[in-house]
Amino acid sequence: MPPLGGGMENIMKKLISVVVPCYNEQAAVPVFYRELSVAVKAIEDACIEVIFVDDGSKDGTLSVIKKLADNFEDVKYISFSRNFGKEAAMYAGMQAASGDYVCIMDVDLQDPPSMLPKMYEEIQSKEYDIVGARRVTRKGEPPIRSFFARMFYKLINKTSSTEIVDGARDFRLMTRQAADAVLKVGEYNRFSKGIMSWVGFKTKWLPYENVERVNGETKWSFMKLLIYSIDGITAFSTMPLSIASVLGLLFCAIAAVLIVVVVVKTLIWGDPVAGYPSAMCLMFLLSGVQLFTIGIIGQYLSKTYMEVKNRPIYITKESNIVEKI
Ligand code: UDP
Ligand code: MG
Repeated sequence: MPPLGGGMENIMKKLISVVVPCYNEQAAVPVFYRELSVAVKAIEDACIEVIFVDDGSKDGTLSVIKKLADNFEDVKYISFSRNFGKEAAMYAGMQAASGDYVCIMDVDLQDPPSMLPKMYEEIQSKEYDIVGARRVTRKGEPPIRSFFARMFYKLINKTSSTEIVDGARDFRLMTRQAADAVLKVGEYNRFSKGIMSWVGFKTKWLPYENVERVNGETKWSFMKLLIYSIDGITAFSTMPLSIASVLGLLFCAIAAVLIVVVVVKTLIWGDPVAGYPSAMCLMFLLSGVQLFTIGIIGQYLSKTYMEVKNRPIYITKESNIVEKI
């Protein structure tokens, strides 16, 4: 079968690499490819390669992708030796991408492929280096999840100098230059929304309404999201460490005042044995604060530990992309 973009004339066309992380998505892969192929028909002067990254799926995702690759020459794949997470999958796909433009898209159609032509048109104008999609509604999402997501964006933007846009997706089309910049950030604890903003470049946001996933279910439990958001904050802000020092100072000051009060009180009124409840309260409060701040330091220490180990971000088990891996 001919590739999505057409035959010989592809030589003159620009190439868009679409990176698609997949984890247990056997049902979504064919539907996604069909939708994408319909969408790219609207782009005249570019063809695409689709890089499916099988992130150690336990279902038949890899065999579904391989079947597609047998039938369509623009389908490439990388399969991990185990589940390394979406961040690692995006990195692997971007590394393997050879296109003039690189796009990241979820396989569950929550990043509508129909937006790709518009994104391409915007990036072609040369005014922007990255064109991203931003959800303006969170319709269909559990309200509690939306609430915590909003809180997270508020918190990360207050504590970090890297701006992270609320509702921004990983769904972005980047120029080769921007993609190379993202790839240069080779840290192990990856938080792409932050990295893509940190590298700079001009970004245009295209708003869209939230779409519910086509089938299967979200791979992000509340706990996974919570850990991911702590990763995001510690990766882009050291403010929590300063909070620890400020809290320490504050409590030293309070203690100094208290000591004076206690000494003066004892000198004037003597020392009746009292104050057990208040001593207990103080003990609980102070040990709580200490544990909390040690926890914060621990977070940074563990991140540093993982970076220093310098482990690979992912390990490929098999792939049909020969040159780059
Ligand atoms: N994904 C992945 N590895 C993981 C979890 C998710 O490659 O460990 C992929 C998943 O297959 C999908 C995308 O990342 O293409 C987004 O995942 P999901 O739809 O579960 O996240 P949500 O849209 O609910 O935030
Ligand atoms: Mg999804």
